[in-house]
Amino acid sequence: MTNTGAGAGITALTGLVGLGGTAAADTPDRPRKDPEVSPAGAPTTTTHLTAEQSAAHQALVDEWNDKLDGKTAEEILDWVNEHVIGTVAVTMSMQDTVLAELAQGRVHDAELVFLDTGYHFDETMDVAREVDERYSLPLKTVEPVLSVEEQNREYGANLYRSNPTACCRMRKVEPLARMLNPYEAWISGVKRVDSELRKDTPILDVDRTGRLKINPIAAWTDQDVEDYIEAHDLIIHPLTKQGYPSIGCATCTLPVAPGEDPRSGRWAGSTKTECGLHL
Ligand code: SF4
Repeated sequence: MTNTGAGAGITALTGLVGLGGTAAADTPDRPRKDPEVSPAGAPTTTTHLTAEQSAAHQALVDEWNDKLDGKTAEEILDWVNEHVIGTVAVTMSMQDTVLAELAQGRVHDAELVFLDTGYHFDETMDVAREVDERYSLPLKTVEPVLSVEEQNREYGANLYRSNPTACCRMRKVEPLARMLNPYEAWISGVKRVDSELRKDTPILDVDRTGRLKINPIAAWTDQDVEDYIEAHDLIIHPLTKQGYPSIGCATCTLPVAPGEDPRSGRWAGSTKTECGLHL
């Protein structure tokens, strides 16, 4: 099911389950798989780069991280275009399209990548289609091994309620890990203001697989994002205007009241604050 092939594009987004979907009935007499054991059929981790590649990335971090901190996002991506070898993955949540706009025409060897968990809001999928039309950078989607219906059958209905950590692992973390395999570097939209856990996010980092991780908007505030969206007339995710400042899966995202922590609507009511992608 995973679709990361060249030229896969937005067409890979067809055939999705509807939100809430047609969740299979939870038949209690059927043995369930252990949610700590992921489904077979695809790797669950990213292949580690060679020691030489990792060392080259660490050298870039050592030399450039401090120099790039304080530069504009545009300058940081110009640096990426000049210094990073190979195709760079630009991760897209579709909550906004800032990274696509920044990378377009600036990082010439880049691909937009989107994790289709099967649980997205319809509006998120609409934004993904608009992104595919607006930007010439290829848009590639990656999906979990199991459809929502298959996961319900194998692990019990609505795993996102009973074990959101396992659900995120199977539907986000592991697909992203597979998706990153062809790339040596990736760009994320993590910001220091997002949460306490992210407050020290560097501009450049080497992830646990030796890949270079670039956080060009790490120093941005939420207002900076708003200003950039307006100045560049970006695609607007309609839910961001309806009380959803941080948008993930429809099943795990609630609107928040004005003045509340923007991420408090994610996994509201549980202690979970991160899906694991950026840990
Ligand atoms: S955000 Fe919720 S539905 Fe989405 S992968 Fe995580 S637990 Fe599952």
